[in-house]
Amino acid sequence: MPDQQTKFVFVTGGVVSSLGKGIAAAAIGRLLVGRGLTVGLQKLDPYINVDPGTMSPYQHGEVFVTEDGAETDLDLGHYERFTNTNTSKASNVTTGGIYDAVIRRERRGDYLGGTVQVVPHITNEIKHRIKLVAETRDVDVAIIEIGGTVGDIESLPFLEAIRQFPADVGRRNCMYVHLTLVPYIKHAGELKTKPTQHSVNELRRIGLQPDMLICRSEAVLSRDIRSKIARSTALPDEMVISGKDVSDVYEIPLWYREESVDQRVLEHFGLEAPPADISDWEQVVRLTRAARSPVRIGLVGKYVKLEDAYKSVAEALKHAGVRDGARIEIDWVDSEHLESEQAALDRLSAVDGILVPGGFGGRGIEGKILACKVAREQGIPFLGICLGMQMAVAEFARHVAGMPGANSTEFDPETEWPVIDLLPEQKEVRDLGGTMRLGADPVTLQPGTRIRELYGEETVYERHRHRYEVSITLRRKLESAGLVVGGTSPDGRLVEAIELPAHPFFVAMQAHPEFKSRPERPSPIFRGFVDAAHRRALERTDVDVPTDVDASSAGAAGSGAR
Ligand code: GLN
Repeated sequence: MPDQQTKFVFVTGGVVSSLGKGIAAAAIGRLLVGRGLTVGLQKLDPYINVDPGTMSPYQHGEVFVTEDGAETDLDLGHYERFTNTNTSKASNVTTGGIYDAVIRRERRGDYLGGTVQVVPHITNEIKHRIKLVAETRDVDVAIIEIGGTVGDIESLPFLEAIRQFPADVGRRNCMYVHLTLVPYIKHAGELKTKPTQHSVNELRRIGLQPDMLICRSEAVLSRDIRSKIARSTALPDEMVISGKDVSDVYEIPLWYREESVDQRVLEHFGLEAPPADISDWEQVVRLTRAARSPVRIGLVGKYVKLEDAYKSVAEALKHAGVRDGARIEIDWVDSEHLESEQAALDRLSAVDGILVPGGFGGRGIEGKILACKVAREQGIPFLGICLGMQMAVAEFARHVAGMPGANSTEFDPETEWPVIDLLPEQKEVRDLGGTMRLGADPVTLQPGTRIRELYGEETVYERHRHRYEVSITLRRKLESAGLVVGGTSPDGRLVEAIELPAHPFFVAMQAHPEFKSRPERPSPIFRGFVDAAHRRALERTDVDVPTDVDASSAGAAGSGAR
């Protein structure tokens, strides 16, 4: 690096929402990491919730948990998976969080009687938070994604803060990247550039001139269209990037490299770095494309209508299949529809693996318990995560360990067999926001267990997000009925993982291993689960994997091994 000043890339979006700003920011980050730079990513969210931890997954999608225990936007999951870099509490900022900090300062009297205003107090706080990302990890390039769409009332303070930013760090250390949509109008047979022009005008109206446009469209933009957009937005042609649709978001870094996005970013900042080495990433994309062997995973949850609610779980499954040529097909099963044992059996007997993920609240709980029962009795590979582990324990307690009606006190406070109960330190907690057991904690894996074999280590760190735990008093009774505790907290007090030995694969974990799974480094427990499901798929269909899978890199299943 020519100097130590962190460079700031600000990513905004216009025309419509859901253009994939998070993926765009993550993909730029991936390329810069590939060029040997350190990056820090941050999401600025304009809503007033202090964090998304208390929001319904239907509103917001998954809550992503960072290593240091922040409950954050799911875009941080993309950042981590793409850049292979951990985010932190500093990486997600909301309007609610900003106001909360400013109002607390005001109540303390820190403003010495001054009038507290959006400009400068709120904007200063936003700028301070942006700088924190650069400082906490000493990054070369900080990539800051501004949530919402240009023109929204809510995002104005954030846009004003980034407009002011060059005054603090210098204009040449700031780059504004704007994502827009270039729609194809069928009856005219044309791509339309007008919405992009309007969106850039909207930005300029508030004092922001973009340095680069990434124009989402169904197909690659022609040279003419790029020139037209460039002329009308006062940009050089090469700063108009074609963000064509791709079938797999993991292809985006490769496409951006083709469009020289990383090179343009470096040139903008006057930086020099060797070409991006993203060969690991290319390998993942190549293997994903080549994966031919379908593995059907029944994902049993209550938010299945919104797939984003289980984003990291779905991604972790995909990662786990890549090396063995397994093409994961998720069968989204609404746990509320599993109303009887027969219904659960009918719905789930055709899947190769059953996954019960995390969740809160009683709706659909009995369906999840039935899914665990079907998996256990039918020998279907099973992975339980957090609530999924708790329900597997309740099912085992009810039907194997002689504890009828066993449940979590979260759902049945009066149960005679409270096999899952509040963590002792949670008993006095009243506020819902940010008060769970959150973030990475050590888990000690027991020798001789399947989970230990999968991780290959005695102590692993996985991220938690829960209030309830396997009951300390009922644990022994469960164990004497055959439940194996594969992982505990280092002091042995808390049950962190369970498994059933005489089963093809029945493993569950209290923490959320999906958050740490990366395309090039799948989560070991997901790998074990997908391997088992893949074996079942091959046995069931008796179909060899087609030979066009690159067998040298696709692993044993590529040769049809059983
Ligand atoms: N509701 C359960 C608890 O609080 C499980 C949480 C989860 O699955 N993340 O312990």
